[in-house]
Amino acid sequence: MSRLVVASNRVADISKPGSAGGLAVAVGDALQELGGLWFGWDGEVTDTPRSPQPRLTTSGRVTLAMLSLSEEEYENYYLGYANSVLWPVLHYRLDLAELDAAYLRTYRSVNQRFAHALGGLLKPDDVVWIHDYHLFPLAAELRAQGFGQRFGFFLHIPFPPPDMFVALPGYEWLIRCIFSYDLVGFQTEADRVNFQRVVQEHADGVLEADGRISAFGRTIKADAFPIGIDVETFRAMARTRKADDQIEKLRRRTIAGVNIIGVDRLDYTKGLPERFKAFRLLLENYPENRKYMTLMQIAPPTREDVDAYADIRMELEGLSGAINGAFGDIDWTPIRYIHRNVARDVLAALFRGCEVGLVTPLRDGMNLVAKEYVAAQDDENPGVLILSRFAGAAETMDEALVVNPYDANEVAQSMQRAATMPLEERRERHAALYKRIERHDVSRWRREFLAALGVGQEVHQA
Ligand code: ADP
Repeated sequence: MSRLVVASNRVADISKPGSAGGLAVAVGDALQELGGLWFGWDGEVTDTPRSPQPRLTTSGRVTLAMLSLSEEEYENYYLGYANSVLWPVLHYRLDLAELDAAYLRTYRSVNQRFAHALGGLLKPDDVVWIHDYHLFPLAAELRAQGFGQRFGFFLHIPFPPPDMFVALPGYEWLIRCIFSYDLVGFQTEADRVNFQRVVQEHADGVLEADGRISAFGRTIKADAFPIGIDVETFRAMARTRKADDQIEKLRRRTIAGVNIIGVDRLDYTKGLPERFKAFRLLLENYPENRKYMTLMQIAPPTREDVDAYADIRMELEGLSGAINGAFGDIDWTPIRYIHRNVARDVLAALFRGCEVGLVTPLRDGMNLVAKEYVAAQDDENPGVLILSRFAGAAETMDEALVVNPYDANEVAQSMQRAATMPLEERRERHAALYKRIERHDVSRWRREFLAALGVGQEVHQA
């Protein structure tokens, strides 16, 4: 029977469920359930001679196979092509892309090195599921070594329209690499359509009658698989004794009648400055909210070695300081800005304890925080989700208050509307959202992807 092999840039320690990152959570859950092999970078950067063999450890039913990166690989592959080129361009931010030829060369050589290391561990009938933008070329490199089994790829971040995608140095090669997979999964239908257009307009691609797509002499399946969360576990986490205490503490410590919560890695795609400006507008335009509403923004540091991330940090500190200075009082701090990681169970409790969930990225593949906020709410007295129309989640969560995150006026009005929404409307919206996230949870996402890859139930239950 086939074994499931997952490859992603980072291998997370799945014995510690507190680690941030949508991918780590989703993949960790899938592998824990099925068992198998998880291959990727261990997060270490070292210039001591590197072993070509990955380091193997086991965690429950999962074997972890990990490699370190050299200083140069970290700079040019991870910080460089992956996070200073692919990340901004795929999030529609051409202005932030740093195009450097060395980045692309190292991106390719790291994928080659990874392919050799993973190749040494692969059995011919393994089902290989490769994740995200760091590893687009991995299947092509493995095929070059003679591996012929089925390869699936899931892109966790958006796929932009052709005019943006072709701004990538090496875009033709990237499309060719994508055609080494048998199945390519996207977060939304909009992403899938963008991909199809890129292939048709820039690689002489042909859409087949059965919906598959052909180019470079291969025919592949491309489809949308919106990722979900483990709704039940998250809901339970928000309802423990400790969670109740946490919520009680939150209510005691703040004089606010309405707590608004935002939880995002400190990334320029998350629309944090725009969110703070909208909150300022709320306090200006609806003065009754002063000493009544508080915005708690939890934004842990991420990719701090990339300049664009240092810039956003400075900007946010400036904005929150200015708003707190202008509006705060001895007994009220308008914005509580927390720049560090918070344990998952504490987050779950905070989501449940806050009346409004503010999820306003400028562009996001899916956004799991939106789903976690809904999962944590009390059915009888739920909070209101405000959601950016540019998050992948908006494609299936239209009972949220869907906003344009660039429009501070609209976001401020939505905060006001959320804070004053009648109980019945809150319940109706929440019930509809909850039903959908429950039906489309992370295990269904994993099952549907693997079924589309043609392995379904036959992947072994180790
Ligand atoms: P991204 O993958 O871009 O970070 P998502 O919203 O899809 O965005 O996923 C983020 C995940 O990381 C969620 O599961 C969220 O709960 C978790 N997370 C975000 N911020 C923190 C934090 N400060 N501490 C712990 N977990 C966090």
